[in-house]
Amino acid sequence: MFIVSEEHARDLMTEAAGFDAVESVFAAMSRGDAYNFPVIREAIGHADALYGFKSGFDRAGLVLGLKSGGYWPGNLGRGLTNHQSTVFLFDPDTGRPTAMVGGNYLTAIRTAAASSVSIKYLARPESRVLGIVGAGHQSHFQIRAAVAQRQFERVVAWNLHPEMLDGLERTVRELGLMFVRADRPDLCEVADVIITITSSHDPLLMADWVRPGTHLACMGTDTAGKMEVDKHLVAKATVFTDEVAQSVTIGEGQHAICDGLMSEEAITPIGDVINGVHGGRRSADEITLFDGTGVGLQDLAVADAVVKIAEEKGVGQRIDL
Ligand code: NAD
Repeated sequence: MFIVSEEHARDLMTEAAGFDAVESVFAAMSRGDAYNFPVIREAIGHADALYGFKSGFDRAGLVLGLKSGGYWPGNLGRGLTNHQSTVFLFDPDTGRPTAMVGGNYLTAIRTAAASSVSIKYLARPESRVLGIVGAGHQSHFQIRAAVAQRQFERVVAWNLHPEMLDGLERTVRELGLMFVRADRPDLCEVADVIITITSSHDPLLMADWVRPGTHLACMGTDTAGKMEVDKHLVAKATVFTDEVAQSVTIGEGQHAICDGLMSEEAITPIGDVINGVHGGRRSADEITLFDGTGVGLQDLAVADAVVKIAEEKGVGQRIDL
């Protein structure tokens, strides 16, 4: 079994490799070549922790495995990240473990890659202003991945906790872009693409604020009860997702569907667009919305990619198990 530590994963993994891995596995999901297994997520009754597994099999890439981990709210006090995850890969021919990979950095890379894929396929080509709602850990990765897809000149940002915007401003300026703080309606007024990446349970963007032609990548809603955008905005937009089953249960789709504002059939897997089965954006006026809920196959894809990079570079450790 090959071991790639958290530190090595951070050193070796690139946004570009993450993008390729996630784009490829979304395409495999759409072809029916890759599928996710039911997610397990449980409160363990200790340390206020939420623990679970996300797993799946990509038959095309021969990647089988799981991401195990969850949320330990007391970790920050111990100098550790609250979200903890580790990926395990197995040989699909024998079931033998092939790799164990630190998954914290990779989770941020694969989440940012998903919204970046959506921007590549759905945002208007001339998009120049990137809006971001949220300024936590993931937001930095989101911006770095998004700027690879369009010639953005300016980032317009809002966050519930404004002091967190200072760190995001540093990231944006390092990328050579202008950074502007704005209220949410003003942000919607100027942004061509908007990424939402918060822990909100209430709508932060309303249907009548968002301009025709905007592409939204809604990345924060990954649990029942969470919500970042008005359900009427979801119903008004053309909705794409990583996995329809998750969009309607734990993603932005859950609220609009529950209230009968739209049907599940109106939601398209982004893999269909990658594979050319769906044409994607139909006009410059259409509002497109990517509901990024986060699937286990994304984790396995980036873990497999970093294992290959580590093996090529002779980094990592092989053990007999
Ligand atoms: P973080 O704790 O570092 O940051 C949280 C962000 O949400 C901050 O910007 C904070 O100001 C904001 N926030 C908190 N409560 C809010 C509220 N009630 N209303 C509006 N904003 C609020 O978290 P992070 O690691 O940046 O993750 C952000 C979100 O993304 C989390 O909800 C996380 O579960 C989710 N996430 C989704 C995926 C996916 O694949 N879709 C992957 C990883 C994380």
